[in-house]
Amino acid sequence: MTSVAALHRDVFGAAASGVWSAPGRVNLIGEHTDYNGGLVLPIALPQRTCAACSPRGDRVLRVHSAQVGETVEVDLDTVGVGTPTGWTAYVAGVLWALAEDGHAVRGMDVTIDSDVPFGAGLSSSAALECAVGAAASDLFGLRLLFDDASRATLAAACVRAENEVAGAMTGGMDQSAALLCRADHALLLDCRSGETEHVPFDLASTGHVLLVTDTRAEHELNDGQYGERRASAEQAAAELGVSSLRDVDPAGLDDALASLSDDVLRRRARHVVTEIARVREAVAALRAGDLDEVGRLFDASHASLRDDYEVSCDELDVSVEAARSAGALGARMTGGGFGGSSIALLPADAVDAAEAAVVAAFAEHGWDAPRCFPVTAGSAAHREA
Ligand code: ADP
Ligand code: MG
Repeated sequence: MTSVAALHRDVFGAAASGVWSAPGRVNLIGEHTDYNGGLVLPIALPQRTCAACSPRGDRVLRVHSAQVGETVEVDLDTVGVGTPTGWTAYVAGVLWALAEDGHAVRGMDVTIDSDVPFGAGLSSSAALECAVGAAASDLFGLRLLFDDASRATLAAACVRAENEVAGAMTGGMDQSAALLCRADHALLLDCRSGETEHVPFDLASTGHVLLVTDTRAEHELNDGQYGERRASAEQAAAELGVSSLRDVDPAGLDDALASLSDDVLRRRARHVVTEIARVREAVAALRAGDLDEVGRLFDASHASLRDDYEVSCDELDVSVEAARSAGALGARMTGGGFGGSSIALLPADAVDAAEAAVVAAFAEHGWDAPRCFPVTAGSAAHREA
């Protein structure tokens, strides 16, 4: 990663003007709440995507990725909804979205290097967009890294890049995390109002660790299932006469559920309403330093996602159970589900045993080995050099 500037020189034959980076993220709690106007609580990962960049005088984007191992040239005047396709859509899309917002952007030479795992639910796509967005902001004098409000504007442009140019359905959590998180803090994001709060999350100070397990499982049907969950949540809200499930008071949940037309809708709605409540409870527990309670909330979140929302899978369930058996205070799947990653909150001295337990359990099932790595709450996108 330190060599991204050297790689840029090799690929493009001239020094980069600078290097910018943006983090991957993991959501601590608040799953499938974003599209219900709810709350999420991500941290930025120490794993980052770096972009060495130089501005160009013309309207050509040349971009190289060390992970993909190719250099692609894109004429900025051809970029639009659905074009280009492939990984360069995330890069070109950011310049396109900034131009749509009225910013004067030109071509760039861009070299990407990253240690954020792809497709593991840790948001390598937003890390890529936000690293490039940070570079464009500085190189073209857009001042979008200036404060949280301008960073939120840049996050919105990165969301448009992903939704419209790359054509990937995504809420705003990933880009907000990559641009707004602070080191040793989680980001409480209200997906309805856009309001944010920084919640202390410094596990090292109390001798705890957050262990991420990338199960490397990928189950098909992910897109269809996601659409089906969104539709169910919207239908439940419509039957309850509210604009989103965010508006259902947890205190009146039983009565609300009783009025729904079928049991599947009841379970879907119960997950969303209780999960939003768990985010609030987790924030309170973190502020009070009560990690046992955070662990209990992780466990309850996992059970709700598995049983009520039905978006877990065997690999996620096994990774969570194995971490618990090795002493986790709590563990849960994170991300959309049907594969991806889980997280476990552990005493620091139990991390090795937990990792061994997860690896052993996967071997017993005959699955590919998972990747386990402890993480701390990292910082948002910034200029590196
Ligand atoms: P996630 O964001 O959970 O990792 P996505 O499917 O949303 O998964 O995004 C992964 C895609 O983002 C990759 O398939 C690739 O197109 C693009 N991408 C992410 N990081 C890089 C990178 N370092 N180089 C090139 N493309 C990348
Ligand atoms: Mg993504």
